[in-house]
Amino acid sequence: TPILMWFRRDLRLSDHAALTAACESGRPVIPVFIHDPLVAELGAAPKWRLGLGIGALADSLNARESRLVLRRGEDALTVLQELVTQTGASSVYWTRLYDPSSVSRDKKIKETLKDQGVEARSFGGHLMFEPWSVETKTGGYYKVYTPFWNSVKTTGVDTPRPAPKAIPAPQDWPESDKLDDWNMGAAMNRGADVVRPFVQLGEQAAQDRLAGFIADIVAGYKDTRDLPGVDGTSNLSENLALGEISPHQCWQAGERALEEGKQGAETFLKELVWREFAYHLMHHTPHMLDSNWREEWEAFPWRTDPDSDEVIAWKQGRTGIPFVDAAMRELYVSGRMHNRGRMIVASYLTKHLMTDWRIGQAWFEETLIDWDPASNAMGWQWTAGSGPDASPYFRVFNPETQLDKFDRDRAYVSRWIAEERGKPHSDALAFFDAIPRSWKLSPDCVYPDPVVTPADGRKRALDAYENRGF
Ligand code: FAD
Repeated sequence: TPILMWFRRDLRLSDHAALTAACESGRPVIPVFIHDPLVAELGAAPKWRLGLGIGALADSLNARESRLVLRRGEDALTVLQELVTQTGASSVYWTRLYDPSSVSRDKKIKETLKDQGVEARSFGGHLMFEPWSVETKTGGYYKVYTPFWNSVKTTGVDTPRPAPKAIPAPQDWPESDKLDDWNMGAAMNRGADVVRPFVQLGEQAAQDRLAGFIADIVAGYKDTRDLPGVDGTSNLSENLALGEISPHQCWQAGERALEEGKQGAETFLKELVWREFAYHLMHHTPHMLDSNWREEWEAFPWRTDPDSDEVIAWKQGRTGIPFVDAAMRELYVSGRMHNRGRMIVASYLTKHLMTDWRIGQAWFEETLIDWDPASNAMGWQWTAGSGPDASPYFRVFNPETQLDKFDRDRAYVSRWIAEERGKPHSDALAFFDAIPRSWKLSPDCVYPDPVVTPADGRKRALDAYENRGF
Protein backbone atom coordinates (compact mmCIF):
# COMPACT_ATOMS: atom_id res chain seq x y z
CA THR A 1 0.00 0.00 0.00
CA PRO A 2 1.23 3.53 -0.77
CA ILE A 3 2.74 6.04 1.64
CA LEU A 4 1.54 9.65 1.49
CA MET A 5 4.62 11.90 1.81
CA TRP A 6 3.18 15.17 3.05
CA PHE A 7 5.58 18.04 2.19
CA ARG A 8 5.29 21.29 4.14
CA ARG A 9 8.47 23.30 4.84
CA ASP A 10 10.85 20.62 3.63
CA LEU A 11 10.85 21.27 -0.11
CA ARG A 12 13.88 19.15 -1.02
CA LEU A 13 14.78 15.58 -1.96
CA SER A 14 18.24 15.29 -0.39
CA ASP A 15 18.78 14.93 3.35
CA HIS A 16 15.10 14.24 3.81
CA ALA A 17 14.60 11.62 6.51
CA ALA A 18 10.88 11.13 5.89
CA LEU A 19 11.24 10.79 2.10
CA THR A 20 14.21 8.45 2.47
CA ALA A 21 12.31 6.23 4.91
CA ALA A 22 9.30 6.18 2.57
CA CYS A 23 11.41 5.25 -0.45
CA GLU A 24 13.41 2.63 1.42
CA SER A 25 10.21 0.85 2.41
CA GLY A 26 9.85 -0.22 -1.21
CA ARG A 27 6.19 0.86 -1.16
CA PRO A 28 4.79 3.38 -3.66
CA VAL A 29 5.27 6.97 -2.50
CA ILE A 30 2.72 9.70 -3.23
CA PRO A 31 4.18 13.17 -2.57
CA VAL A 32 1.50 15.64 -1.50
CA PHE A 33 1.28 19.34 -0.68
CA ILE A 34 -1.85 20.62 1.08
CA HIS A 35 -3.11 24.19 0.89
CA ASP A 36 -4.77 24.41 4.31
CA PRO A 37 -5.63 27.41 6.52
CA LEU A 38 -2.04 27.68 7.78
CA VAL A 39 -0.93 28.21 4.19
CA ALA A 40 -3.87 30.51 3.45
CA GLU A 41 -2.98 32.84 6.31
CA LEU A 42 0.69 33.36 5.36
CA GLY A 43 1.87 36.90 4.63
CA ALA A 44 1.90 38.06 1.01
CA ALA A 45 5.59 37.56 0.25
CA PRO A 46 6.14 34.29 2.15
CA LYS A 47 3.07 32.83 0.44
CA TRP A 48 4.20 33.92 -3.01
CA ARG A 49 7.68 32.51 -2.33
CA LEU A 50 6.17 29.26 -1.06
CA GLY A 51 4.24 28.97 -4.35
CA LEU A 52 7.52 29.24 -6.27
CA GLY A 53 9.09 26.64 -3.98
CA ILE A 54 6.21 24.20 -4.51
CA GLY A 55 6.63 24.59 -8.29
CA ALA A 56 10.36 23.89 -8.05
CA LEU A 57 9.78 20.80 -5.90
CA ALA A 58 7.16 19.53 -8.36
CA ASP A 59 9.69 19.95 -11.18
CA SER A 60 12.35 17.95 -9.39
CA LEU A 61 9.85 15.20 -8.55
CA ASN A 62 8.72 15.10 -12.19
CA ALA A 63 12.35 14.72 -13.25
CA ARG A 64 12.42 11.53 -11.14
CA GLU A 65 9.25 10.10 -12.61
CA SER A 66 7.27 11.11 -9.58
CA ARG A 67 4.76 13.93 -9.04
CA LEU A 68 3.58 16.39 -6.44
CA VAL A 69 -0.14 16.02 -5.79
CA LEU A 70 -1.69 19.35 -4.80
CA ARG A 71 -4.86 19.49 -2.74
CA ARG A 72 -6.66 22.35 -1.07
CA GLY A 73 -8.97 22.11 1.91
CA GLU A 74 -10.32 23.75 5.03
CA ASP A 75 -8.61 21.11 7.11
CA ALA A 76 -5.46 19.13 6.30
CA LEU A 77 -6.82 16.11 8.19
CA THR A 78 -9.88 15.84 5.92
CA VAL A 79 -7.69 16.16 2.83
CA LEU A 80 -5.39 13.40 4.08
CA GLN A 81 -8.37 11.18 4.92
CA GLU A 82 -9.74 11.68 1.40
CA LEU A 83 -6.37 10.81 -0.09
CA VAL A 84 -6.16 7.69 2.08
CA THR A 85 -9.53 6.57 0.74
CA GLN A 86 -8.71 7.45 -2.87
CA THR A 87 -5.25 5.85 -2.98
CA GLY A 88 -5.47 3.02 -0.46
CA ALA A 89 -2.50 4.56 1.39
CA SER A 90 -1.93 3.18 4.87
CA SER A 91 0.80 5.57 6.03
CA VAL A 92 1.40 9.32 6.13
CA TYR A 93 4.92 10.66 6.66
CA TRP A 94 5.99 14.24 7.28
CA THR A 95 8.82 16.40 8.65
CA ARG A 96 8.09 18.01 12.02
CA LEU A 97 7.36 21.70 12.43
CA TYR A 98 7.52 23.53 15.74
CA ASP A 99 5.30 26.61 15.70
CA PRO A 100 2.28 26.17 17.99
CA SER A 101 -0.31 26.21 15.17
CA SER A 102 1.47 23.48 13.21
CA VAL A 103 2.08 21.45 16.36
CA SER A 104 -1.58 21.42 17.38
CA ARG A 105 -2.72 20.62 13.82
CA ASP A 106 -0.20 17.78 13.46
CA LYS A 107 -0.95 16.32 16.88
CA LYS A 108 -4.64 16.05 16.09
CA ILE A 109 -3.88 14.52 12.68
CA LYS A 110 -1.53 11.97 14.18
CA GLU A 111 -4.03 10.89 16.84
CA THR A 112 -7.01 10.68 14.46
CA LEU A 113 -5.16 8.81 11.73
CA LYS A 114 -3.79 6.33 14.26
CA ASP A 115 -7.30 5.71 15.60
CA GLN A 116 -8.36 4.96 12.05
CA GLY A 117 -5.58 2.44 11.57
CA VAL A 118 -3.39 4.70 9.41
CA GLU A 119 0.25 4.94 10.37
CA ALA A 120 1.27 8.60 10.94
CA ARG A 121 5.02 9.18 11.35
CA SER A 122 6.80 12.44 11.85
CA PHE A 123 10.54 12.87 11.29
CA GLY A 124 13.15 15.46 12.22
CA GLY A 125 15.04 17.46 9.62
CA HIS A 126 13.97 21.10 9.94
CA LEU A 127 16.38 21.49 12.86
CA MET A 128 19.70 19.96 13.87
CA PHE A 129 18.74 19.76 17.55
CA GLU A 130 15.20 18.96 18.62
CA PRO A 131 14.17 21.84 20.89
CA TRP A 132 13.32 19.54 23.80
CA SER A 133 16.58 17.62 23.54
CA VAL A 134 18.81 20.48 24.70
CA GLU A 135 18.67 20.97 28.46
CA THR A 136 20.54 22.96 31.06
CA LYS A 137 22.33 21.08 33.84
CA THR A 138 19.26 21.49 36.03
CA GLY A 139 16.93 20.16 33.37
CA GLY A 140 15.47 23.47 32.17
CA TYR A 141 15.67 25.20 28.82
CA TYR A 142 18.20 27.84 27.75
CA LYS A 143 17.22 31.50 27.84
CA VAL A 144 20.59 32.82 26.74
CA TYR A 145 22.34 31.98 23.47
CA THR A 146 25.99 31.48 24.52
CA PRO A 147 25.40 28.60 26.96
CA PHE A 148 23.03 27.08 24.37
CA TRP A 149 25.82 27.24 21.80
CA ASN A 150 28.33 25.77 24.29
CA SER A 151 25.96 22.94 25.01
CA VAL A 152 25.24 21.97 21.37
CA LYS A 153 28.52 22.71 19.63
CA THR A 154 30.07 19.38 20.45
CA THR A 155 26.87 17.32 20.35
CA GLY A 156 27.42 16.17 16.79
CA VAL A 157 25.07 16.70 13.88
CA ASP A 158 23.64 13.85 11.77
CA THR A 159 25.45 13.32 8.49
CA PRO A 160 23.23 14.50 5.63
CA ARG A 161 21.64 11.78 3.50
CA PRO A 162 21.79 11.75 -0.29
CA ALA A 163 18.52 12.03 -2.22
CA PRO A 164 16.79 8.66 -2.71
CA LYS A 165 17.95 6.93 -5.91
CA ALA A 166 14.37 6.35 -7.00
CA ILE A 167 10.96 7.38 -5.76
CA PRO A 168 8.66 4.41 -6.30
CA ALA A 169 5.52 5.59 -8.11
CA PRO A 170 1.98 4.31 -7.46
CA GLN A 171 0.09 2.53 -10.25
CA ASP A 172 -2.46 5.31 -10.42
CA TRP A 173 -1.96 8.91 -9.45
CA PRO A 174 -4.74 10.70 -7.57
CA GLU A 175 -6.02 13.94 -9.07
CA SER A 176 -4.13 17.13 -8.37
CA ASP A 177 -5.08 20.81 -8.33
CA LYS A 178 -3.15 23.10 -10.65
CA LEU A 179 -0.65 25.29 -8.82
CA ASP A 180 -1.63 28.32 -10.89
CA ASP A 181 -5.21 27.96 -9.68
CA TRP A 182 -4.00 28.44 -6.11
CA ASN A 183 -2.86 31.92 -7.07
CA MET A 184 -0.25 32.04 -4.32
CA GLY A 185 0.83 35.50 -5.45
CA ALA A 186 -2.65 37.05 -5.19
CA ALA A 187 -1.71 39.35 -2.31
CA MET A 188 1.75 40.10 -3.68
CA ASN A 189 0.82 43.51 -5.00
CA ARG A 190 4.31 44.90 -4.81
CA GLY A 191 5.65 43.89 -8.15
CA ALA A 192 6.35 40.16 -8.01
CA ASP A 193 8.42 40.66 -11.15
CA VAL A 194 10.60 43.17 -9.28
CA VAL A 195 11.27 40.71 -6.45
CA ARG A 196 11.62 37.61 -8.65
CA PRO A 197 15.26 38.24 -9.76
CA PHE A 198 16.31 38.24 -6.11
CA VAL A 199 14.82 34.81 -5.40
CA GLN A 200 17.21 31.90 -5.03
CA LEU A 201 14.76 29.21 -5.95
CA GLY A 202 14.90 25.56 -5.13
CA GLU A 203 17.21 22.86 -3.91
CA GLN A 204 19.82 23.04 -6.66
CA ALA A 205 20.20 26.82 -6.42
CA ALA A 206 20.59 26.53 -2.65
CA GLN A 207 23.26 23.84 -2.99
CA ASP A 208 25.12 25.90 -5.58
CA ARG A 209 24.99 28.95 -3.32
CA LEU A 210 26.28 26.96 -0.35
CA ALA A 211 29.18 25.65 -2.42
CA GLY A 212 30.01 29.15 -3.70
CA PHE A 213 29.74 30.64 -0.22
CA ILE A 214 32.05 28.00 1.25
CA ALA A 215 34.57 28.40 -1.59
CA ASP A 216 34.73 32.18 -1.74
CA ILE A 217 33.13 33.88 1.25
CA VAL A 218 33.12 31.86 4.45
CA ALA A 219 36.81 32.31 5.26
CA GLY A 220 36.24 36.04 5.81
CA TYR A 221 32.63 35.75 7.00
CA LYS A 222 33.38 36.88 10.55
CA ASP A 223 34.03 40.38 9.18
CA THR A 224 32.02 40.45 5.95
CA ARG A 225 28.78 39.32 7.62
CA ASP A 226 28.37 42.78 9.14
CA LEU A 227 28.77 44.74 5.91
CA PRO A 228 25.46 45.19 4.11
CA GLY A 229 27.16 46.67 1.04
CA VAL A 230 29.05 43.48 0.21
CA ASP A 231 28.04 39.92 -0.69
CA GLY A 232 29.41 38.58 2.57
CA THR A 233 26.81 36.16 3.97
CA SER A 234 25.39 32.83 2.85
CA ASN A 235 22.06 34.23 1.65
CA LEU A 236 20.52 30.86 2.49
CA SER A 237 17.78 31.98 4.89
CA GLU A 238 14.95 31.77 2.34
CA ASN A 239 16.03 28.24 1.42
CA LEU A 240 16.33 27.22 5.06
CA ALA A 241 12.91 28.73 5.80
CA LEU A 242 11.28 26.47 3.21
CA GLY A 243 13.57 23.50 3.70
CA GLU A 244 15.07 23.75 0.22
CA ILE A 245 18.34 23.01 2.01
CA SER A 246 18.77 21.36 5.41
CA PRO A 247 20.66 22.94 8.30
CA HIS A 248 22.68 19.72 8.50
CA GLN A 249 23.96 20.25 4.97
CA CYS A 250 24.99 23.80 5.89
CA TRP A 251 26.58 22.63 9.12
CA GLN A 252 28.59 19.88 7.44
CA ALA A 253 29.89 22.28 4.78
CA GLY A 254 30.82 24.80 7.48
CA GLU A 255 32.54 22.18 9.62
CA ARG A 256 34.64 20.98 6.67
CA ALA A 257 35.62 24.56 5.86
CA LEU A 258 36.71 25.03 9.46
CA GLU A 259 38.81 21.86 9.27
CA GLU A 260 40.44 23.31 6.16
CA GLY A 261 41.45 26.32 8.20
CA LYS A 262 38.74 28.76 7.08
CA GLN A 263 38.32 30.48 10.42
CA GLY A 264 35.20 32.45 9.51
CA ALA A 265 33.32 29.16 9.28
CA GLU A 266 33.02 28.99 13.06
CA THR A 267 30.96 32.17 13.02
CA PHE A 268 28.77 30.64 10.29
CA LEU A 269 28.16 27.58 12.50
CA LYS A 270 27.23 29.92 15.34
CA GLU A 271 24.69 31.71 13.16
CA LEU A 272 23.10 28.41 12.18
CA VAL A 273 22.77 27.78 15.90
CA TRP A 274 21.01 31.15 16.40
CA ARG A 275 18.28 29.70 14.20
CA GLU A 276 18.16 26.59 16.40
CA PHE A 277 18.06 28.78 19.50
CA ALA A 278 15.07 30.69 18.11
CA TYR A 279 13.21 27.39 17.71
CA HIS A 280 14.30 26.26 21.18
CA LEU A 281 12.80 29.44 22.64
CA MET A 282 9.62 29.19 20.55
CA HIS A 283 9.10 25.59 21.67
CA HIS A 284 9.53 26.37 25.35
CA THR A 285 7.87 29.79 25.38
CA PRO A 286 5.47 29.97 22.43
CA HIS A 287 4.02 33.21 23.80
CA MET A 288 7.13 34.89 22.41
CA LEU A 289 5.42 34.91 19.00
CA ASP A 290 2.88 37.53 20.02
CA SER A 291 3.62 38.78 23.56
CA ASN A 292 6.55 40.47 25.23
CA TRP A 293 8.70 37.60 26.42
CA ARG A 294 9.47 39.64 29.55
CA GLU A 295 6.06 40.38 30.93
CA GLU A 296 7.00 43.77 32.40
CA TRP A 297 7.30 45.09 28.85
CA GLU A 298 3.54 44.80 28.40
CA ALA A 299 3.36 47.94 30.55
CA PHE A 300 5.78 49.94 28.39
CA PRO A 301 4.06 52.88 26.64
CA TRP A 302 4.54 51.44 23.16
CA ARG A 303 2.94 53.40 20.36
CA THR A 304 0.51 51.00 18.80
CA ASP A 305 -1.02 52.81 15.80
CA PRO A 306 0.06 50.85 12.72
CA ASP A 307 -1.04 53.74 10.47
CA SER A 308 0.71 56.63 12.22
CA ASP A 309 2.77 58.95 10.01
CA GLU A 310 5.93 57.67 11.65
CA VAL A 311 5.14 54.03 10.98
CA ILE A 312 4.19 54.81 7.39
CA ALA A 313 7.46 56.68 6.87
CA TRP A 314 9.27 53.65 8.28
CA LYS A 315 7.49 51.19 6.01
CA GLN A 316 8.01 53.39 2.96
CA GLY A 317 11.72 53.92 3.60
CA ARG A 318 11.18 57.66 4.12
CA THR A 319 12.33 58.22 7.70
CA GLY A 320 15.12 60.53 6.52
CA ILE A 321 17.68 58.23 8.17
CA PRO A 322 19.68 56.76 5.26
CA PHE A 323 20.63 53.44 6.86
CA VAL A 324 17.03 52.78 7.90
CA ASP A 325 15.59 53.81 4.55
CA ALA A 326 18.11 51.81 2.52
CA ALA A 327 17.27 48.70 4.50
CA MET A 328 13.49 49.18 4.26
CA ARG A 329 13.78 49.58 0.50
CA GLU A 330 16.04 46.55 0.20
CA LEU A 331 13.25 44.65 1.95
CA TYR A 332 10.57 45.97 -0.36
CA VAL A 333 12.46 45.31 -3.57
CA SER A 334 14.30 42.09 -2.80
CA GLY A 335 12.13 40.48 -0.11
CA ARG A 336 15.24 40.22 2.02
CA MET A 337 17.16 42.48 4.35
CA HIS A 338 20.72 42.26 5.58
CA ASN A 339 20.95 41.28 9.25
CA ARG A 340 22.65 44.57 10.15
CA GLY A 341 19.78 46.38 8.43
CA ARG A 342 17.22 44.31 10.35
CA MET A 343 18.78 45.32 13.64
CA ILE A 344 18.98 48.99 12.69
CA VAL A 345 15.41 49.30 11.38
CA ALA A 346 14.04 47.32 14.31
CA SER A 347 15.94 49.49 16.75
CA TYR A 348 14.79 52.70 15.07
CA LEU A 349 11.15 51.58 15.10
CA THR A 350 11.07 50.31 18.67
CA LYS A 351 13.41 52.81 20.31
CA HIS A 352 13.53 56.07 18.34
CA LEU A 353 9.89 55.77 17.30
CA MET A 354 8.86 53.92 20.49
CA THR A 355 6.60 51.71 18.42
CA ASP A 356 5.41 48.28 19.49
CA TRP A 357 7.76 45.68 17.99
CA ARG A 358 4.74 43.64 16.88
CA ILE A 359 4.00 46.26 14.22
CA GLY A 360 7.45 45.71 12.75
CA GLN A 361 7.18 41.96 13.16
CA ALA A 362 3.90 41.98 11.20
CA TRP A 363 5.41 44.08 8.38
CA PHE A 364 8.33 41.67 8.08
CA GLU A 365 5.89 38.77 8.06
CA GLU A 366 4.09 40.38 5.14
CA THR A 367 7.14 41.35 3.10
CA LEU A 368 10.07 38.96 3.74
CA ILE A 369 10.63 35.99 1.43
CA ASP A 370 12.75 34.33 4.15
CA TRP A 371 10.10 34.85 6.82
CA ASP A 372 10.52 32.44 9.69
CA PRO A 373 8.19 32.59 12.70
CA ALA A 374 10.84 31.84 15.31
CA SER A 375 13.75 33.93 13.96
CA ASN A 376 11.49 36.89 13.22
CA ALA A 377 9.95 36.98 16.70
CA MET A 378 13.29 36.43 18.38
CA GLY A 379 14.96 39.12 16.26
CA TRP A 380 12.30 41.69 17.14
CA GLN A 381 12.25 40.90 20.83
CA TRP A 382 16.04 40.89 20.96
CA THR A 383 16.20 44.34 19.43
CA ALA A 384 13.28 45.81 21.38
CA GLY A 385 14.80 44.60 24.64
CA SER A 386 11.78 42.52 25.61
CA GLY A 387 13.28 39.12 24.80
CA PRO A 388 15.06 36.66 27.07
CA ASP A 389 18.51 37.21 25.59
CA ALA A 390 18.11 40.80 24.58
CA SER A 391 20.09 43.85 23.77
CA PRO A 392 19.48 46.05 26.85
CA TYR A 393 16.97 48.84 26.32
CA PHE A 394 19.52 51.57 26.97
CA ARG A 395 21.75 50.27 24.19
CA VAL A 396 20.17 52.28 21.36
CA PHE A 397 21.75 51.71 17.97
CA ASN A 398 22.79 55.04 16.49
CA PRO A 399 21.99 54.67 12.78
CA GLU A 400 24.52 57.36 11.85
CA THR A 401 27.52 55.89 13.62
CA GLN A 402 26.43 52.44 12.45
CA LEU A 403 26.64 53.76 8.90
CA ASP A 404 30.18 55.01 9.43
CA LYS A 405 31.15 51.68 10.89
CA PHE A 406 29.45 49.23 8.55
CA ASP A 407 28.85 51.14 5.30
CA ARG A 408 31.89 53.36 5.26
CA ASP A 409 31.95 53.83 1.49
CA ARG A 410 28.13 54.19 1.41
CA ALA A 411 27.82 51.31 -1.06
CA TYR A 412 24.63 50.07 0.63
CA VAL A 413 22.94 53.44 0.91
CA SER A 414 23.82 54.30 -2.70
CA ARG A 415 22.44 51.01 -3.92
CA TRP A 416 19.02 51.54 -2.38
CA ILE A 417 18.34 55.29 -2.22
CA ALA A 418 17.61 57.26 -5.41
CA GLU A 419 16.50 60.70 -4.29
CA GLU A 420 18.90 63.59 -4.86
CA ARG A 421 21.48 61.36 -6.53
CA GLY A 422 22.77 62.13 -10.01
CA LYS A 423 22.84 58.57 -11.28
CA PRO A 424 20.76 56.34 -9.03
CA HIS A 425 21.50 52.61 -8.90
CA SER A 426 19.05 50.39 -10.81
CA ASP A 427 17.97 48.72 -7.54
CA ALA A 428 17.20 52.14 -6.04
CA LEU A 429 14.99 52.87 -9.06
CA ALA A 430 13.36 49.44 -8.89
CA PHE A 431 11.86 50.49 -5.56
CA PHE A 432 9.67 52.99 -7.39
CA ASP A 433 8.46 50.27 -9.78
CA ALA A 434 7.54 48.07 -6.86
CA ILE A 435 5.60 50.49 -4.66
CA PRO A 436 1.88 51.20 -5.02
CA ARG A 437 0.88 54.44 -6.75
CA SER A 438 -0.96 55.50 -3.62
CA TRP A 439 2.41 56.11 -1.93
CA LYS A 440 2.87 59.00 -4.36
CA LEU A 441 6.64 58.72 -4.44
CA SER A 442 9.08 59.12 -7.28
CA PRO A 443 12.88 59.20 -7.60
CA ASP A 444 12.53 62.97 -8.14
CA CYS A 445 11.14 63.56 -4.64
CA VAL A 446 13.23 65.48 -2.15
CA TYR A 447 14.88 63.18 0.38
CA PRO A 448 13.01 63.82 3.68
CA ASP A 449 14.34 65.31 6.89
CA PRO A 450 14.54 62.83 9.76
CA VAL A 451 11.17 61.89 11.28
CA VAL A 452 13.03 61.81 14.57
CA THR A 453 16.71 62.60 14.80
CA PRO A 454 18.91 59.92 16.37
CA ALA A 455 19.66 62.22 19.33
CA ASP A 456 16.03 63.23 20.03
CA GLY A 457 14.73 59.70 19.54
CA ARG A 458 17.33 58.27 21.85
CA LYS A 459 16.54 60.80 24.58
CA ARG A 460 12.80 60.27 24.32
CA ALA A 461 13.19 56.50 24.49
CA LEU A 462 15.54 56.60 27.45
CA ASP A 463 13.26 59.02 29.32
CA ALA A 464 10.30 56.71 28.83
CA TYR A 465 12.41 53.79 29.92
CA GLU A 466 13.59 55.49 33.06
CA ASN A 467 10.12 56.75 33.94
CA ARG A 468 8.79 53.23 33.87
CA GLY A 469 11.43 52.30 36.37
CA PHE A 470 12.53 49.06 34.82
P1 FAD B 1 23.93 34.23 7.24
O1 FAD B 1 24.65 35.34 7.91
O2 FAD B 1 24.60 33.59 6.09
O3 FAD B 1 23.62 33.13 8.35
C1 FAD B 1 23.40 31.75 8.03
C2 FAD B 1 22.04 31.30 8.54
O4 FAD B 1 22.02 31.37 9.96
C3 FAD B 1 20.90 32.18 8.08
O5 FAD B 1 20.44 31.81 6.79
C4 FAD B 1 19.86 31.92 9.16
O6 FAD B 1 19.15 30.72 8.94
C5 FAD B 1 20.73 31.74 10.41
N1 FAD B 1 20.81 33.03 11.12
C6 FAD B 1 21.72 34.01 10.94
N2 FAD B 1 21.50 35.02 11.81
C7 FAD B 1 20.42 34.66 12.54
C8 FAD B 1 19.69 35.29 13.59
N3 FAD B 1 20.04 36.48 14.09
N4 FAD B 1 18.62 34.65 14.09
C9 FAD B 1 18.24 33.43 13.62
N5 FAD B 1 18.90 32.80 12.63
C10 FAD B 1 19.97 33.40 12.09
N6 FAD B 1 15.91 35.30 9.82
C11 FAD B 1 15.07 34.54 9.09
O7 FAD B 1 15.51 33.53 8.53
N7 FAD B 1 13.76 34.87 8.96
C12 FAD B 1 13.22 35.96 9.56
O8 FAD B 1 12.01 36.21 9.44
C13 FAD B 1 14.09 36.81 10.31
N8 FAD B 1 13.63 37.95 10.89
C14 FAD B 1 14.50 38.75 11.61
C15 FAD B 1 14.01 39.92 12.20
C16 FAD B 1 14.86 40.75 12.93
C17 FAD B 1 14.31 42.01 13.57
C18 FAD B 1 16.21 40.42 13.06
C19 FAD B 1 17.14 41.32 13.83
C20 FAD B 1 16.70 39.25 12.48
C21 FAD B 1 15.87 38.41 11.75
N9 FAD B 1 16.34 37.23 11.12
C22 FAD B 1 15.47 36.43 10.42
C23 FAD B 1 17.72 36.77 11.33
C24 FAD B 1 18.78 37.22 10.28
O9 FAD B 1 18.68 38.58 10.02
C25 FAD B 1 18.66 36.44 8.96
O10 FAD B 1 18.58 35.06 9.21
C26 FAD B 1 19.86 36.70 8.05
O11 FAD B 1 19.96 38.06 7.75
C27 FAD B 1 19.70 35.90 6.78
O12 FAD B 1 20.74 36.17 5.87
P2 FAD B 1 21.77 35.01 5.46
O13 FAD B 1 21.01 33.78 5.06
O14 FAD B 1 22.68 35.58 4.46
O15 FAD B 1 22.47 34.76 6.84
